Amino acid sequence: MLDLFSIFSKGGIVLWCFQSTSDIFSPSVNALIRNVILQERSGNNTFNHNALSLQYKLDNEFELVFVVAYQRILQLSYVDKFLNDIHLEFRDKYKNELQGGKHNMDFDFKTTFDKVLKQCESWAKSQAKIPKQMRTFEDSQKSKKTVASMIERKGEEKSKKSVKIVENKSIPNGKEEESPDGEDDVIAANRAKLAQKLAAKSKKDTKKSPKSPKATQERVKKPRVWELGGGSRDLPSLDFSSDKDSAPSNVGLPTDTQLLGQMTGAIRDLEVESDSSSDEEIEQTHSSPKKSTGMFSIFKGLVGSKALSEETMRPVLDKMRDHLIGKNVAADIANKLCDSVATKLDGKVLGTFDSVARTVKATLTEALVQILSPKRRVDILRDCLHAKQQGRPYVMAFCGVNGVGKSTNLAKICFWLIENNLSVLIAACDTFRAGAVEQLRTHVRRLDALHAGAVHLYEKGYGKDAAGIAMEAIKYAADSKIDVVLIDTAGRMQDNEPLMRALAKLIKVNEPDLVLFVGEALVGNEAVDQLVKFNQALADHSSSSNPHVIDGIVLTKFDTIDDKVGAAISMTYITGQPIVFVGTGQTYTDLKALNANAVVHALMK
Ligand code: GDP
Repeated sequence: MLDLFSIFSKGGIVLWCFQSTSDIFSPSVNALIRNVILQERSGNNTFNHNALSLQYKLDNEFELVFVVAYQRILQLSYVDKFLNDIHLEFRDKYKNELQGGKHNMDFDFKTTFDKVLKQCESWAKSQAKIPKQMRTFEDSQKSKKTVASMIERKGEEKSKKSVKIVENKSIPNGKEEESPDGEDDVIAANRAKLAQKLAAKSKKDTKKSPKSPKATQERVKKPRVWELGGGSRDLPSLDFSSDKDSAPSNVGLPTDTQLLGQMTGAIRDLEVESDSSSDEEIEQTHSSPKKSTGMFSIFKGLVGSKALSEETMRPVLDKMRDHLIGKNVAADIANKLCDSVATKLDGKVLGTFDSVARTVKATLTEALVQILSPKRRVDILRDCLHAKQQGRPYVMAFCGVNGVGKSTNLAKICFWLIENNLSVLIAACDTFRAGAVEQLRTHVRRLDALHAGAVHLYEKGYGKDAAGIAMEAIKYAADSKIDVVLIDTAGRMQDNEPLMRALAKLIKVNEPDLVLFVGEALVGNEAVDQLVKFNQALADHSSSSNPHVIDGIVLTKFDTIDDKVGAAISMTYITGQPIVFVGTGQTYTDLKALNANAVVHALMK
């Protein structure tokens, strides 16, 4: 018996839902979304959470998720068939509406659901009566392996063995089903991989072989100085999130004064790792196809003396689409990018690989510039001066969920402003999280050491009304002729209605010039979901006919995502709001502006 069946969009809108009990399933479904769907894990479509088994099917065309939940102790043999059948029925019935993106309509699906479920249940009963037969070779897993996948390579031996241990542990009775622990193992393995990746990034300058026992010994004994430096640089880290009013120790590190003067003028663009690297890759792909790993290699097949047609390009464009989706680019944006490349190449004769690759690169850059060009331009320095001429402070409010880097990036933005001769008042309106005010106090002290008297803190401790404190701070800044007010707000989950209502009130009452949403690039498309919901909640709860929603985005921890830049594109694409700042590390200078070239470069890797 099924406990729950739900159809929802990847953006989180429930299209249709059936529940046979009054239990609350949202924690299990949320866990599935967080641990499987958002991480875009492929493979097994079963996920276990507490006593429940959840099985899901994705519809990538319409970005839908079909989920079934049932008690884990039940052995329901028809769930795979049911998911396939119900998916087809739903698509067939509502194809036109789905194409039109109508997710909020009333889907009258109960009769079809009952019919399909009944059919599948009787199918399962009839299957149970058939005596079990041995699997043929064609049915077995071995027949599905390609020859290439069976070749054992030297370096892979070890990892295969460790996988085996996991398998042995998780299948004590030889069954082919995944055990509940399997999920945790995979998550743990993924986390370990991420940690390894980050550590490797920080240590990339170290040339010692990790295999050498001497190197390992040294690593264990030596204090990990690089951690204090925020990545591989020797600058003091800004992580004061656990700071309880104590200045961070920077013994042995260069002083902050090295940072002085580095942030004057407009925010610098994100650096493309090496300007010539894409060209180098084109060369490499051209001269030695085996070495190429980036997107260019996909286009090798298009070199020829015939004019390119839709048909010849189709397989290549499909691969390009998969490549982009692999970088977290949402399906509709990937389609758009592929379409623009197809239009540019259609009918052309591209005799050399160089010409194909350069055309693709130029087209992608052009398309991305279009997507990343926001509805409106945000020029904070100019607007601050304009407000100053009007005799009032320029006010910016920062919002987002907890831990995304609001306070840290607020401090970086503050540093940029004071580097540009503006005075700043930070309003400590996170009156909720213990340590939030102290964290800001530490930042103010350090910033004051760099530009004496340029930064002030307005704080009223904890538990008070944040909207009221912001209002007092703005008044204080106006009276004291301070140029800019930066309002730090408490982190809140996008679905927490009372807290979102409070944020809407803070914004409505204080009318900041700029409301910035802070999201971390690290969580990929989850950040897009947060942004969309913050925007929606601000509109819903503002009780104004012209609500003030999000004006711009601060995308933090960009330094940790490698080349998975898709979420950044989706954020601007969906809301039309600009990514005003990109946080790229933990020092005051790690603040950049997003530019299409850097994004194209990452996408092409
Ligand atoms: P808040 O709860 O949103 O105010 O988050 P915090 O400002 O306390 O930051 C949470 C953590 O993220 C801290 O450890 C910061 O040092 C770290 N952090 C913030 N921005 C960045 C960034 O751009 N890159 C990296 N690598 N870490 C960051």
